[in-house]
Amino acid sequence: MQAMTHLRHTDAGSALDVEAVRRDFPILKKKVRGKPLVYLDNAATTQKPQQMLDALTRFYVDTCANIHRGLHQLSEHATREYEEAREKVRRFLNAPEAREIIFVRGATEAVNLVAHSWGRGTLQPGDEVLITGMEHHANIVPWQVLCQEKGAKLRVAPISDAGELLLEEFEKRLGPRTRLVAVAHVSNALGTVNPVRRIVEMAHRQKTPVFVDGAQAAPHTRIDVQALDCDFYAFSGHKLYGPTGVGVLYGKAGLLERMPPYQCGGDMIRSVTFEETIFNTIPYKFEAGTPNIAGAIGLGAAIDYVEGIGLERIAAHEHDLLAYATRRLAEIPGLRIIGTAPEKAAVISFVLDGIHAHDIGTILDREGIAVRAGHHCAQPVMARFGVPATTRASFAFYNTRQEVDALVAGIHKVQEVFR
Ligand code: PLP
Repeated sequence: MQAMTHLRHTDAGSALDVEAVRRDFPILKKKVRGKPLVYLDNAATTQKPQQMLDALTRFYVDTCANIHRGLHQLSEHATREYEEAREKVRRFLNAPEAREIIFVRGATEAVNLVAHSWGRGTLQPGDEVLITGMEHHANIVPWQVLCQEKGAKLRVAPISDAGELLLEEFEKRLGPRTRLVAVAHVSNALGTVNPVRRIVEMAHRQKTPVFVDGAQAAPHTRIDVQALDCDFYAFSGHKLYGPTGVGVLYGKAGLLERMPPYQCGGDMIRSVTFEETIFNTIPYKFEAGTPNIAGAIGLGAAIDYVEGIGLERIAAHEHDLLAYATRRLAEIPGLRIIGTAPEKAAVISFVLDGIHAHDIGTILDREGIAVRAGHHCAQPVMARFGVPATTRASFAFYNTRQEVDALVAGIHKVQEVFR
């Protein structure tokens, strides 16, 4: 529907009309320090389209009620919209069944849910969890704590100087004691796209389930959990143009059914006496208490929006931006890009000779340019490349080549300040 207004036909085929999509994002009209906002911090969180904001407002103005328990009309409407959002997520991930979609707070909570629920019941002393050297802290710390608690071992598959997973090394570490593989689909610090299908094949050969952290993949590429054949897949709504405080854990029904609840309380029960509680079926078993109803509905609207534009079209536009930005940044003397894998998505991390990332971020901010500077919650990645921090520009489909030019001009200004 709305997407049709965003398309124009060019010689290259059907391309995205970026100026039209930008009009859907009220914040992009904003001036920062008197300059037009150049928002290149999309890997941290994305901006929100009016259509998603309208869905949030509509819920609070028109249908606000608690779900699943009420017999009145508002509650029925709210329940329907919440469950419709679950169905939208199911389609978005191409999951076989809606009951395999659990609404959580975000990717972080999804990892914690699996670590607590699956991990506590499964891991034995001497078992192993295998991750990669490019994980976000959210996909390290819960496994590390779990392993410490259970006397298990956290193993790490190393990455190359380009920031690619060394698959042979990964396979070598996949042993008879590996109980779970947990891997990022796309690295937030490097932009590397991992070969998840191959990783799953390797792990499944020895019946090891695979958890995929899709926080940086879901906004940029079409996800098909059946084609990937992963056992768990997680992402955050706020990185997909949806609200904060909502995210998704997909899990294969057979696994979820065998897992105990993560949190206990209302809604996750079938019946309660003081002697015994019988738990609800999936997905409700994992959604204790009043969930983020508006958030789930907002996420559904964000998915409608993104699908209206088309993930292939989004990926093509962002790929063009990434290639253009890589070329332009590589021309800057003293700039080194960290993460040069051939398969990358929407992220450029870089360091500048003699200038700390925080100084770069601060000076760029004076130009209205929002980037991230720091360790990006991936300190082991920084250690691997021997840098304390990087500056990261990350793209969304509403970004333009002119904004990349503004970034390049901003970096030249930074270098002048330090000359
Ligand atoms: N995993 C990756 C790869 C991320 O980039 C992030 C956030 O930056 C997370 C997990 C955690 O996401 P959230 O903070 O939304 O839970």
